[in-house]
Amino acid sequence: MSMKSKYFETNAIHVGYEDSQHGGSLSPPIYQTSTFVFPDAETGERRFAGNEAGYVYSRLKNPTVVIFEERMAELEGGEKGLAFASGMAAVSAVLLGLLKTGDHILCSEGVYGCTFGLLQYMEDHLQIGHSLIPMENEAAIEAAILPNTSLIYIESPINPTMKLVDLEMVSRVAREKNIPVIVDNTFCSPYLQQPLKMGCDIVVHSATKYLCGHGDVIGGVAVGREDVMQQIAMTAQKDIGGIMSPFEAWLLLRGIKTLPVRMDRHCDNAERIAVLLKRHPCIESIFFPGDPDFAQYEAGKRQMKKAGGMISLLIKGGKQEAQQMMNALKLVKIAVSLGDAETLIQHPATMTHAVVPEQEREKMGIKQNLLRLSVGLEAWQDIWADLEQALQSVYQKENQVVR
Ligand SMILES: *Cc1c(COP(=O)(O)O)cnc(C)c1O
Repeated sequence: MSMKSKYFETNAIHVGYEDSQHGGSLSPPIYQTSTFVFPDAETGERRFAGNEAGYVYSRLKNPTVVIFEERMAELEGGEKGLAFASGMAAVSAVLLGLLKTGDHILCSEGVYGCTFGLLQYMEDHLQIGHSLIPMENEAAIEAAILPNTSLIYIESPINPTMKLVDLEMVSRVAREKNIPVIVDNTFCSPYLQQPLKMGCDIVVHSATKYLCGHGDVIGGVAVGREDVMQQIAMTAQKDIGGIMSPFEAWLLLRGIKTLPVRMDRHCDNAERIAVLLKRHPCIESIFFPGDPDFAQYEAGKRQMKKAGGMISLLIKGGKQEAQQMMNALKLVKIAVSLGDAETLIQHPATMTHAVVPEQEREKMGIKQNLLRLSVGLEAWQDIWADLEQALQSVYQKENQVVR
């Protein structure tokens, strides 16, 4: 067993991997195999019966993927991690693994677009209902809990409005009612926020984002208590089968080694860019947990190590100005996803949240002039220069129209 440190940075590099068990290979081998050879028939029988540990078939367990699962469990402060083919495979496995027809899910108002789509699907096809509520205080949550509410599902910060949910407060209410709390921790990564340590029960991630960090993997992971994760592994992971491939696990292990240094830089760059955006005359407002005027600035300080690398902004004008600004960018790329080395910008109303009905979108605060920025690792001076020239070009065009 590899050494566990009290420091996140060390664990991000070492936990789950023991080189002496792999011929001294510094980098973990990619076990690119579908199946595993049993030394004899009786061993096969024992492994199938669950009476002997060991590998059987890569949909059930693969050594490279197991290293990733163990490392993530450690970084989130949980007992067991499960890896999936995508963030949505992780979200759907956890929900389908824990819920049954007739149940009800209580959700934060504002969830990832495809999670919203999944909730709708479960309501229409499986009679698993949901309500989306702001979760601003204990009374509001208690009032929204129905007799059949069997799960609470939260994002914090909420994509793309950056609203925060007080995770300790929600888990306190949920514990009294014995309802598990699931948190999508994609926007923070475990380096910035550790929901399990605040009393939540399961963390899910789109590993595609900060965990990977290089824009070259689609993957997901869930972490929680051993018995609960085992239940999900034996049903939603094994039988629905949205598992992670060994190569993806290897790329993620590589990415996670630098998670702390990358996150520090994402956060530092975002803080600088946020200050500059906020005082720019073409910007109506920004939504950034590190902005002292942000409504939940204090809550952010309590539950996040730093404010993160995501900034949403309202540009003066409407959809046209938002799209003009995006089109004028040269360094910043127009793309969904986040957490990559490259700075990315997207228009939630027509991109990530286009599937959400307009009425719901308005309620979530996703206006036509809202843009979401994933601040990358470039020099902040270059990121700002590009944003500023793009804003400038929109503003000049408008002035010409006015004249
Ligand atoms: C991207 C994302 C997902 C979905 O993850 P995929 O890896 O794209 O399937 C879920 N939740 C959040 C918050 C995300 O940003």
